[in-house]
Amino acid sequence: KQRLLQSLKNIPATTTDGITIRLMANIGREEDMAPALEHGAEGVGLLRTELLFLGKDAFPTEDEQFEYYKWIALLSKNKPVTIRTLDIGGDKQLPYFPLPEEQNPVLGYRAIRIGLDQKDILRTQLRAILRASAFGRLRILLPMISGVQEVRAVKEILAAEKKEVTGFDPHIPLGIMIEIPSAAIMADLLAKEVDFFSIGTNDLCQYTLAVDRMNERVKGLYDPYNPAVLRLISYTIGQAHAHNIGVCLCGELASDPLATLLLAGMGLEEFSMNAGSIPLIKNIILHSSRSEAVAVFKKVMTMDNSRDIVHYLEEVNR
Ligand code: PEP
Ligand code: MG
Repeated sequence: KQRLLQSLKNIPATTTDGITIRLMANIGREEDMAPALEHGAEGVGLLRTELLFLGKDAFPTEDEQFEYYKWIALLSKNKPVTIRTLDIGGDKQLPYFPLPEEQNPVLGYRAIRIGLDQKDILRTQLRAILRASAFGRLRILLPMISGVQEVRAVKEILAAEKKEVTGFDPHIPLGIMIEIPSAAIMADLLAKEVDFFSIGTNDLCQYTLAVDRMNERVKGLYDPYNPAVLRLISYTIGQAHAHNIGVCLCGELASDPLATLLLAGMGLEEFSMNAGSIPLIKNIILHSSRSEAVAVFKKVMTMDNSRDIVHYLEEVNR
């Protein structure tokens, strides 16, 4: 395994017919950067900033956040780093920011909803990211977007902060997570608002199928190979292409070898995953062709249930 890792590290994930796919890492802490690069990550597709906030006993200040993002930018060796704004609520709570009890926390007050309600939290984070963008290729990613109004509201805040901060990257890309079905369904409209999409299949699956991803009793229904989920993923990728914006997939599905050909066949050109899975996924891409992948995708889209789909993908992967 170590040998495979070393031999694959410096070669790009290119199909046998010449399509190169970018493999990025999901990270949560600065210590994750070195291993990510060691596994051949071409950048960070998802930096979950929750861990920075969880490790404190009060909200990190703008300067503390700036230092952290700057350090991450420097460690990235000039590779792109996608920083997602705070995604708390739902299952993630900060000890110093108690949230009111809710009947349905994953449908409640969380992520960008908190950011747009308590704007200082979002403003501080955006300012820190802007300042750090002078030190690397940073991108901003917004979690749990459900429609265009939220994006426009954040863009207004971002534009205001850009007037206050100096020395930032004026072209810093702004993207959104596509992890709520409404966002996927409106991918055509949202694509006009942002520079890139990042598909969060963990939440997209939970919300599309109405299955709590943390609830053991309904775990069997949690299934990213459900045709409904696959249609939303495929539509999102297609709309990103149609509008000429970037598209990444950063949910767990990106690291599932069963899904690699299918996603490549949909035209996905950026996968982001835990770094340890990169060599495995790269190896699959190196031994596959784009035309093979498109054939797999077309076949899967004719199927009406996940059991048949998974069975077919297992056959293909054998
Ligand atoms: C997702 O929902 O797929 C995702 C990548 O975000 P998180 O797992 O942090 O909710
Ligand atoms: Mg999510």
